[in-house]
Amino acid sequence: MITKLVHIIIYEYSYIQLYGLTVLYFFLLYYGIAPIFNKVCIWLEHKGVLHKISIKEVTKRQKKMEQIHSLKSIFIFGFSILPILYLVRINRIIFLPDTFINSVVGIVLLTIWNEVHFFVIHRIMHIPFFMKYVHRIHHKSVTPTVYSVYSFHWFEALLLSTVPITILPFLSFSPMAVFLYPLVSILLNYSGHCNYRFGKGNGADWKLFGTRHNAHHSSFKKSYGFASDVLDKLSDNISQRWRSKK
Ligand SMILES: [Zn+2]
Ligand SMILES: [Zn+2]
Repeated sequence: MITKLVHIIIYEYSYIQLYGLTVLYFFLLYYGIAPIFNKVCIWLEHKGVLHKISIKEVTKRQKKMEQIHSLKSIFIFGFSILPILYLVRINRIIFLPDTFINSVVGIVLLTIWNEVHFFVIHRIMHIPFFMKYVHRIHHKSVTPTVYSVYSFHWFEALLLSTVPITILPFLSFSPMAVFLYPLVSILLNYSGHCNYRFGKGNGADWKLFGTRHNAHHSSFKKSYGFASDVLDKLSDNISQRWRSKK
């Protein structure tokens, strides 16, 4: 049933219809989940499970600004489906069957690829030129909120939306993995922007999984990776070796 529906959507819908559906999908992910995620965080804070990172109150103005930029990003994200669709229709992208295992493995691989992709784009965004003209929009949220997740300059939104198209032509995924990946991605994004973490921020590494990015918003440096600091450590290591060789 779902496979048939996916087949109809991929091969029979027009590019404009697909753009509209993609915009709607990202819109629902943003406005449908953000308030729930926030309420769950507040509830877990009362239970003593989560702790606020910055106690500074976020103004209504900031949340409004974040939503305006996020809406612009959602319209940009809608375009990400078009090259994928084109390559599917000319058989340059081949999908795997929609089995459970293909979906799970696909989502894991896409999430790992997203981490590498984000690290590279984010590191570029911190080059002074891009910081000044592009990435500063995202860093306007010094204390991030769940509404910061898509709050980007349109150019940064465009770059970040290239996660699937930079891997799908080279590695096959099931349609369900590609469809569910934005959901998994936004949940990770919420955890990295909700301004909550487990413990006081100096516990075991797994406790900080996905929450380091909150601190990056106020420090403006380090933690270019999103969910983990593996790539930050790796690049520090490489640059240290490079300097010691000189
Ligand atoms: Zn952020
Ligand atoms: Zn940044």
